[in-house]
Amino acid sequence: AQARIGLIGLGTMGAALALNIAEKGFPIAVWNRTTEVTRAFAANAGDLAQNVIPTETLADLVAAIAKPRAIILMVPAGQPVDDQLAALAPLLDADDLVIDAGNADFHDTNRRDGAGLPFRFLGMGVSGGEEGARHGPAIMGGGTASDWDRVADVMTAIAARAEDGTPCAARMGDAGAGHFVKMVHNGIEYADMQMIAEIYGMMRDGMAMEAAAISDIFARWNTGVLQSYLIEISAKVTAAADPHTGKPMVDVILDRAGQKGTGRWTAIEAQHLSAPIPVIEAAVMARNVSARLDERLAGEARFGAAPQPCAIDPQVLEQALIAGKILCYAQGFTMISAASGRFGWTLDLPEIARVWRAGCIIRSAMLNDMAAALAEDPARNLIMAPFFADLIETAIPALRQVVSQGAAAGHALPALASGLMWFDLMRTGRGTANLIQAQRDFFGAHGFQRIDGLDAPHGPWGGLA
Ligand code: NDP
Repeated sequence: AQARIGLIGLGTMGAALALNIAEKGFPIAVWNRTTEVTRAFAANAGDLAQNVIPTETLADLVAAIAKPRAIILMVPAGQPVDDQLAALAPLLDADDLVIDAGNADFHDTNRRDGAGLPFRFLGMGVSGGEEGARHGPAIMGGGTASDWDRVADVMTAIAARAEDGTPCAARMGDAGAGHFVKMVHNGIEYADMQMIAEIYGMMRDGMAMEAAAISDIFARWNTGVLQSYLIEISAKVTAAADPHTGKPMVDVILDRAGQKGTGRWTAIEAQHLSAPIPVIEAAVMARNVSARLDERLAGEARFGAAPQPCAIDPQVLEQALIAGKILCYAQGFTMISAASGRFGWTLDLPEIARVWRAGCIIRSAMLNDMAAALAEDPARNLIMAPFFADLIETAIPALRQVVSQGAAAGHALPALASGLMWFDLMRTGRGTANLIQAQRDFFGAHGFQRIDGLDAPHGPWGGLA
């Protein structure tokens, strides 16, 4: 029997994705650089083994797949992808399709797409971790519509399903569009996690709450507007006990966050696009600060520990998190719009919100409403959609209270505070950039526009006049 599709790289994600594909009834040929891994995978495939064709050379892999072939690459992003593409080149036909499903930098995907590869190429963002890959990830494709259509049956079959049954798999646009959208997803993931952690800190340090009590609050929030995978797992991780000491697990975990770079890429790209995403930038900054443990300990020794007691009603904390989350997503979607213009993609914002509704790490109830609000008018900032404008109007006083009381009591809330500052900037018709324009004109004769329309683009700054 010939395989419907092939897969290279039976690591954590590749193995889970291959089993998912086999389970949905598609015969899949697999190959891994280390042959023992392929053998172990096939031996452990159980009932699904009948749909798995293990191969031990790249040529055998290619021969096992029905033409025109489709092959998923699930290897580490970067050079391994270029190496595999080069290794496949002599073995494939011009109408064969290679799908890079790793966490590629979308600039690399654009480069590969434009590099004249001797076969068809798709870049595909896959979110949901190992569990998602095995039972239903969110899938963000990039490439031509006809190439996507060739594998759309497989991708929609293996993807997560939203509440209304829609598969969370779609083509986002050409070339790097899928990896771009996956990157912004990860940036938002950083921000969601950081805002939850900031609120957790208020409860732990401001109100001396035990992890178990914090877990109860998260669990309650997960039945309301904040219902989401990240709130759900926050309830779970704060409830867990350390098997070694019996203490709450979170209390024995070092407060130094790791990162693989996609949050940083989002922040850097946003700067290139002149797209303001301060909540995501603050989240990346906070991870970078978290890594500097020795400096933080020295700072605490010199200046004293920052957080002081600060009691805030958990309902207010919940509202603050709701506000922060809406502001963050509004920024993320604005960044996606900016990329549409820059890269010539027609990124479909409501479709992106729909794809994120299930399977991925940032899946949440609120994304249903975001998809609906963006569908009304994709060009409008999410905070201006009536549904969200009302929610924000209700929740902003809570965010303001948390940020101001928290700051007064020494709580670092960079993501929540950045969201609030952005919101206030976004509803200030007369800002302060008039002074900046005057300064720029003073030192650099950069000129300015006047509010009265008079054509006198320079100020009376002496030497320049
Ligand atoms: P793993 O480290 O578990 O597996 C890597 C796989 O790639 C292995 O099969 C390995 O083969 C193979 N490989 C490594 N280097 C090379 C190379 N130079 N040439 C050929 N094959 C190579 O990684 P993951 O499965 O976690 O990640 C794979 C991709 O998926 C990455 O791009 C990652 O960023 C992305 N991703 C990961 C997620 C996760 O939650 N883990 C979530 C979403 C995306 P061998 O057995 O020979 O070492």
